[in-house]
Amino acid sequence: MPGPKDPPGSSTRAVHGGEREGRPRVSDSLTTPIVQTSTFWFRDTQELVDYQEGRYASFEYGRYGNPTVRALEEKLATLEGGEDCLVSASGMNSITTLLLALVPEGGHIVTTHDCYRRTRQFAQTVLPKMGIRTTVIDPSDLEGLERALAGGATLYFSESPTNPYLRVVDVPRVAELCRAAGAISVIDSTFASPVNQRALDLGADVVLHSATKYIAGHNDVLCGALVGHSARIGPVRDLHGILGGVVDPHAAWLVLRGCKTLALRVERANATALRMAEFLSEHPRIARVHYPGLSSHPDHEIARAQMQGYGGVVSFEVDGGLETASKLVDALRLPYIAPSLGGVESLVEQPTVISYWDQTPEQRAELGILDNLIRYSCGIEDADDLVADLEQALDRI
Ligand code: PLP
Repeated sequence: MPGPKDPPGSSTRAVHGGEREGRPRVSDSLTTPIVQTSTFWFRDTQELVDYQEGRYASFEYGRYGNPTVRALEEKLATLEGGEDCLVSASGMNSITTLLLALVPEGGHIVTTHDCYRRTRQFAQTVLPKMGIRTTVIDPSDLEGLERALAGGATLYFSESPTNPYLRVVDVPRVAELCRAAGAISVIDSTFASPVNQRALDLGADVVLHSATKYIAGHNDVLCGALVGHSARIGPVRDLHGILGGVVDPHAAWLVLRGCKTLALRVERANATALRMAEFLSEHPRIARVHYPGLSSHPDHEIARAQMQGYGGVVSFEVDGGLETASKLVDALRLPYIAPSLGGVESLVEQPTVISYWDQTPEQRAELGILDNLIRYSCGIEDADDLVADLEQALDRI
C-alpha cells in the first residue's frame, strides 16, 4: 500500500506515519533503522554549506537531531494532528524544557490541582528562581482561569485526565479563554494517549506526552513528546539543543515500535478499565471509584464530549484506611506493585506509599492524596483474569 501522507485512520498513521515517506532508506530495511551515531559527516565543504542553507537534508550532531528520532517525531505529529513534534529523554524533560522556553522571565503560569508531583515541584521550586509564579486552580475552575489570565498569566498547563483522580479539563473552553487572552494552552494528554483524545483538534496549542506510558507501552523505556504548531515547538527545540535532554536513538526506536500497537493496546485497556470501574463501584468494600467513564464522575459529560475512550487507569478508595488499602494491594496476584502506567503489564500503586511517601499526612491531605486511595493501571491481560483477581483480593481483606 503506497502510504498517502495523511491517511484518516489513527492506527494507519501509528503504523506508517513518519516511516514511509521522507525517511532515508537504508539497505531497503522495512523498519526504520536505529541510527546509532552521535555525529554525522559531510562529503565536502559544499555539502556542509548546502546542509546549512537547507538544500541538503541531513543531520549534524545528535543533540540537534537523528533520523530514528525524527521518524518518531513525524509519527507522533501525524498521530496528534500537529505540524511539528519534539521528543526528548523523558516526559519531565519535555515539561521542563517547554516551560523554560515558552514562559518569559518574571512570567505567570496557571496549572491545575491533582497533577504529576514532579511537574508541581518544578513549578514551585525551580520556576520561582526565574521570577515565574504559578496560580493553581481546580481543573473545572474556568473563572479562576479567567482571573489568572486577566492578571497576566501567559501559559496554561494541565493534565487531562489528571493524576490520580482522572479529572477531565474542558479543553475547547480552556483553549478558547487562553486564545482570547493571548496565552498558550498546553495539555498533558499522557493518561489519554493520542487514541483517546486529540487535544490539538480540541483547540489546545501544544499537547504533551510522557511517551514512557501508553505510547511506548511496554514499561521498558523513558521518552517525552510535545506536538503543536512549529511556532510553538521551534523555541522549545532550540532550548532543547542547549539543555541537551535528548532521547537515545535506541530508545526512540522502541517507542516507534510501541506506536504500532498503540490503538490495540489502548482499546483493550479502555474496555478492561471500564469493566473494572463498574465492578468496583458495585462492591461493598469500595468507598468510591474515580473513572471518567462512570456517570458518577464529576467530569463524565466533558469526557464523553471530547474523548474517544476513557483510558486504562482506575483510581478507587477502599472502605478503610492505609492498612486496608495495602492489604488489598498485597492480596492482588496479577498487577505488579509499581509506579507508572500505560504498559502491557497491569500496575497497581498506593499514591501515599509511593509518590507521596516523603510527605507528612498534613501535606498529603492538603494535596488531596487519601490514605485509602489505590491507582490501578490496566495492562493488556485478559479482563476476566484481572477482574477475578480483584474479586479474590477483595474477598481477603
Ligand atoms: N506527565 C504525567 C501525567 C505523568 O504521569 C508523568 C509520569 O508519571 C510525567 C508527565 C513524567 O513523565 P516521565 O516519567 O516520562 O518523565
